[in-house]
Amino acid sequence: MTFELDRRTLFRGGAAAGLATLAVAGFEESVTAATLQGSLPSHVDVVVVGGGLSGLVAARKVAAKGRSVLVVEARDRVGGRLLNHTLKGGAVIEAGGAFVGPTQDHIKALAAEMGVHTFKEYVQGKNVYISAQGKKQLYTGTVPPDPLVLLDAALLLKQLDKFASEINVDAPWTHPKAAEWDSMTLGDYIRKNAVNKAGILNLIAAWTQPGFGADPDQLSLLFVIHYIACSGNEATKGTFELNANTTGGAQESRFIGGSQLVPLKVAQRLGTRVALDAAVHRIDQGSTKAIVKTSRGNVTCKQVIVACPPPLVLDIDWYPQLPAQRHALLTHMKMGRLMKCDAVYSTPFWRADGLSGSGVADSGATRTVFDNSPNDASVGVLLSFVGGATWQKYGTLPQAERKKAVLEGFAQMFGPKALKPIEYTEHNWPHETWTRGAPVAVMAPGTMTAFGPAIRRPFGRVHWAGTETSTYWTGYMDGACRAGERAAAEVLAKL
Ligand SMILES: Cc1cc2nc3c(=O)[nH]c(=O)nc-3n(C[C@H](O)[C@H](O)[C@H](O)COP(=O)(O)OP(=O)(O)OC[C@H]3O[C@@H](n4cnc5c(N)ncnc54)[C@H](O)[C@@H]3O)c2cc1C
Repeated sequence: MTFELDRRTLFRGGAAAGLATLAVAGFEESVTAATLQGSLPSHVDVVVVGGGLSGLVAARKVAAKGRSVLVVEARDRVGGRLLNHTLKGGAVIEAGGAFVGPTQDHIKALAAEMGVHTFKEYVQGKNVYISAQGKKQLYTGTVPPDPLVLLDAALLLKQLDKFASEINVDAPWTHPKAAEWDSMTLGDYIRKNAVNKAGILNLIAAWTQPGFGADPDQLSLLFVIHYIACSGNEATKGTFELNANTTGGAQESRFIGGSQLVPLKVAQRLGTRVALDAAVHRIDQGSTKAIVKTSRGNVTCKQVIVACPPPLVLDIDWYPQLPAQRHALLTHMKMGRLMKCDAVYSTPFWRADGLSGSGVADSGATRTVFDNSPNDASVGVLLSFVGGATWQKYGTLPQAERKKAVLEGFAQMFGPKALKPIEYTEHNWPHETWTRGAPVAVMAPGTMTAFGPAIRRPFGRVHWAGTETSTYWTGYMDGACRAGERAAAEVLAKL
């Protein structure tokens, strides 16, 4: 059963749903009801394409300056890659983006303003590592204690941090070594520099598969270095540790009630400035206006902000056509492949065994595992990120076979109790029409140096938002907020 199906069941008021469940579903229903019903306005100052976090933040900034704005969203909900899922007992977990950490100030400030609070990811106790040979080891910290990879891992992370410290996050293609770094993959670099090449490639995939939905051989080294450089803010340089760590890094905290509460609350305030079920299929622009054509009708405006995932921009008919460099950039930006698989237990039983619920495995369906229990630990939830090559192997299986592989992986880490969840749920993002992958669009070699400068370049009346256009925390909720704020400032300056 997919999350979408569960959500619809809840909206119909399933008898088994608890009070908390109904409260969350009821809130989303009330937000949907508050959005624009009936005809779209014929004219506004700004149309925002996409009601994910980035588009909603942009619209909020435009509205705050007294300009008329309309968000047109293809789905019947807001939030895009943020999607809450209510478990049978009423607790909420996330099917999409969830974690926040230090230097992600923009999403944290917005959430605080919306009254959505964070709680710390559970980290007490030991993490579990399952080696390629099936050997189980307990450890603390970020890197599993495999003596065969430790030295290579330390050297690689040191090098990546050094390279990232030299990058201009606004224009990574200007680094003197940009061409060299963009001519190879992260995998090529590892093969060239590591002693235990296979070992470190396999270990680093436990970072790239959840982080990019891709493997080291699919990612340009320059793109990866830039991504690390972006994992910070204006005051703190991005580092691998800020990106990959739980404590002190991007996985440090989650939102009480689920991250989708943030876009839902922003949309609630925007009210009739949001139109759902309004997929944009064509954008015309001329010397005095732009016309955005949607499945609910056309809207004429002065400026447009496009805030949908890069590959989806190519599905829109553009008159005039997109500039060649932007078209080429979007053609080369592929969504990662990632799904989240969650098993629910009556308690987080691993905690009593002194385990944090975090794990890394060299193979199988549970390569990167987190404790995904709600704040009050009313149930225990184990989460496996199934991404990249692991998605290719398990994400494409029938659900029953994937579930079996995921539960067996959890059992290898946390014992046989893991085989008997009270609930199992998953969300397969590459199958989502309006996202088509997760968590982010990635770049292979040759993309960033050839086409990167087009990433934020406005096209006439059209400006670009979406997390992929951010200069800090691109790929993350924080980047989505930042990109929305920047695009709003661009159009406000032109109105
Ligand atoms: C499984 C997963 C795990 C993640 N983990 C984290 C995490 O832990 N922490 C973190 O910070 N981030 C995480 N992310 C990434 C984070 O969710 C995204 O960076 C962020 O939500 C992107 O927001 P956005 O507004 O840029 O894009 P989106 O959320 O993709 O919003 C784009 C919107 O555009 C709409 N749209 C598309 N085409 C059209 C069209 N033609 N017309 C109208 N509307 C259209 C879509 O329906 C969508 O609502 C994760 C994402 C996923 C999926």
